[in-house]
Amino acid sequence: MTMWVAQTVQEIHQRRRTLAGRVALVPTMGALHAGHVALMQQARRLADHLLVSIFVNPTQFGPREDFSRYPRPLEQDLAACRDAGVDGVFHPSVQEMYPPGVPASSLNVPSIAAELEGALRPGHFEGVCRVVLKLFNLTQPALACFGQKDFQQLRVVQAMVADLNVPVDVVACPTVRESDGLALSSRNVYLSADDRKHAIGLSRALEEARLLIERSAETDPLAVSAAMLQTMKAYHIEPDYAEVRHPVTLAKLDCIEPRLTGGVVALVAGRLGPVRLIDNALMAIPKTT
Ligand code: AMP
Repeated sequence: MTMWVAQTVQEIHQRRRTLAGRVALVPTMGALHAGHVALMQQARRLADHLLVSIFVNPTQFGPREDFSRYPRPLEQDLAACRDAGVDGVFHPSVQEMYPPGVPASSLNVPSIAAELEGALRPGHFEGVCRVVLKLFNLTQPALACFGQKDFQQLRVVQAMVADLNVPVDVVACPTVRESDGLALSSRNVYLSADDRKHAIGLSRALEEARLLIERSAETDPLAVSAAMLQTMKAYHIEPDYAEVRHPVTLAKLDCIEPRLTGGVVALVAGRLGPVRLIDNALMAIPKTT
């Protein structure tokens, strides 16, 4: 079956009406890489039809962020979707998604969205929630796959879906990495050769946290943060944050203790020249004997 591309709200509604059975959606901003493809493969296994959206969403970018220079290699992206067995791609214009004259709704999950990325990127998660809900309404999927790479985004979307009873299963997919540990990101192409070498400092910081928590049974989240910051700095990464948080609520922790049966999540963000990168990892807490 040949893959279709819908560019308007009317077209996607028409296409959606022809699909029977379970539909999976993988929302993306394009510049697709193996991480996105892994999401598509997972989605493909769980549903009868696979839809991918490619939309660089302006409402989730701050005024000084990289919206205008975000990569948009559309032909390459469509080829990647075809190869992954995608049924249809929704690729709307900004005008189509946000027609002038339609007043904007505001959506947020403050308890999860206010800190970390939310504190550094005011309005980011409001933009994410709004576009994700719009994409869900436009494609009416039974499930949607999101990467753990954007861990806070995943938790914000899961919380929104739970609170608003959105009938979509949000499926979390593991982070795909380069062989040296760097998490794949559409922004990695902007790293200079030197910065690319230093970028492994993010995953190294997470490995350091894992050693401290899982092997050395470190219980102080601030000690783990300090170690992660030191590792990032050793790799010339200008840190935004390095934190250990509750893996669902992302609340701050006083102590990394065995009663946290779901473990903890370590989250890092930092800048290498003009490029901002984030990463995270879930960690188990050793049982006390
Ligand atoms: P983006 O195009 O960056 O908005 O990402 C679209 C989806 O792909 C989001 O759910 C991301 O979390 C996910 N994603 C991005 N990078 C990776 C990766 N390295 N591994 C797995 N999923 C990813």
